[in-house]
Amino acid sequence: MKNEPLILKVPERVLRLLPSEERRKKGPYAIFECFQQIPCNPCYTACKFGAVKELTDINELPETFYDKCVGCGACVAHCSGLAAFVIDETWSESQTVVKFAWEFLPLPQKGDVVDAVDRDGQTVTKGTVVSVVTYKDRTSVIGIAVDDAYAHIVRGMALPLTAENGVFVGEPENVVLDESIVCRCEDIDMETLKRLLDENHLTLNDLKLEARFSMGPCQGKTCTALLVRELSARLGKPAEEIRGPRHRQPLRPVKLGAFAGYKEL
Ligand code: SF4
Ligand code: SF4
Repeated sequence: MKNEPLILKVPERVLRLLPSEERRKKGPYAIFECFQQIPCNPCYTACKFGAVKELTDINELPETFYDKCVGCGACVAHCSGLAAFVIDETWSESQTVVKFAWEFLPLPQKGDVVDAVDRDGQTVTKGTVVSVVTYKDRTSVIGIAVDDAYAHIVRGMALPLTAENGVFVGEPENVVLDESIVCRCEDIDMETLKRLLDENHLTLNDLKLEARFSMGPCQGKTCTALLVRELSARLGKPAEEIRGPRHRQPLRPVKLGAFAGYKEL
């Protein structure tokens, strides 16, 4: 009952990334749902097992050498785009463990039952937390066990919305803890952002110039929305009125050869 309708929702491009059936039965493996050619390679540099193909061009998409991957999860913790996952389909007879990066506090505890969410953040089933590992940069990798049918549907979790956990209730200023990371690429926390706002850096461009927000490998993919929210609250302006940082050409990394071959018409 649980297999057919859900398996159809796994994006085709994700199905294409999966290792062979034989490999999936051997143990955990990393999967990179990374489909945009951006200059980024922490997944490669984090792997101590040589299980991520060397990115000779930093814009290349990552690839797992499934024969070398041991499912340690280091690439998950270091991925700037939250695009890396470890999947263990051998966890039990009927359950798969899905591991993903988690950057919120408080951390869940082993044994907690949480809402397991899909790529769109929609709750699709329940999961049980089976592992919580926090890395040096304070990113944690959470493993949750879900029924096998959800192995390639679930890609995260949501904690219950309670007043006790203090994370999801209240005004925005009270929600985010000072030590929460706002910009993963440049390792900038909320305390730093608040200080910059207090010092009157009240535009996205100013924040970019002062602290390198949006200048890391993800190019603002993860921090810009948070900055807009904080600026909007601080200035009392709707988010739509917060102007974006100034982008200069080229908007995407371009090989010098492309310019060398340019001919004016
Ligand atoms: S899970 Fe570990 S071994 Fe596998 S690719 Fe990631 S860092 Fe390498
Ligand atoms: S976004 Fe993640 S998976 Fe993609 S290249 Fe960067 S570190 Fe690797």
